[in-house]
Amino acid sequence: MSILDDFNKALSGGLGRLQFEARKLQRTTQIQGELYELRGKSEGAIAQLGQRTFELYQQGRIAEPALVELATRVQHLHDQLAAKQRELEQAQAETFVEPTAAPPAQRVPIEEEPLPLARACPSCGYLCPPTALFCANCGTRVAS
Ligand SMILES: [Zn+2]
Repeated sequence: MSILDDFNKALSGGLGRLQFEARKLQRTTQIQGELYELRGKSEGAIAQLGQRTFELYQQGRIAEPALVELATRVQHLHDQLAAKQRELEQAQAETFVEPTAAPPAQRVPIEEEPLPLARACPSCGYLCPPTALFCANCGTRVAS
């Protein structure tokens, strides 16, 4: 066998495996879809069974204690649902209430002393601190 024959054989073997994997994936995907559908139908049927049993319980026609217990739990949940529904309707009906205008905050008058003004030196115009007696720039007396 030549190297080329080996290569062709390996290639066709690889294709065979790819084909196999593709078919396998297709098949398992199909089965999973069927499983999903069957589970859905099963759950639907059980829900119907429960609904029917609950109706019989409401008619007082269920004696089996285990079923009565389950039905009682369902009844309790139905009561909670009804109460929660009313709570929702009340919450939805609430409207915004304008807060009553608060009285204006009492403004405490502040005793403000006028800021002492710097005074300009009569000689050179330099602004001297209000407490200064003499101009710091030219020495002229600025305090009266
Ligand atoms: Zn001055």
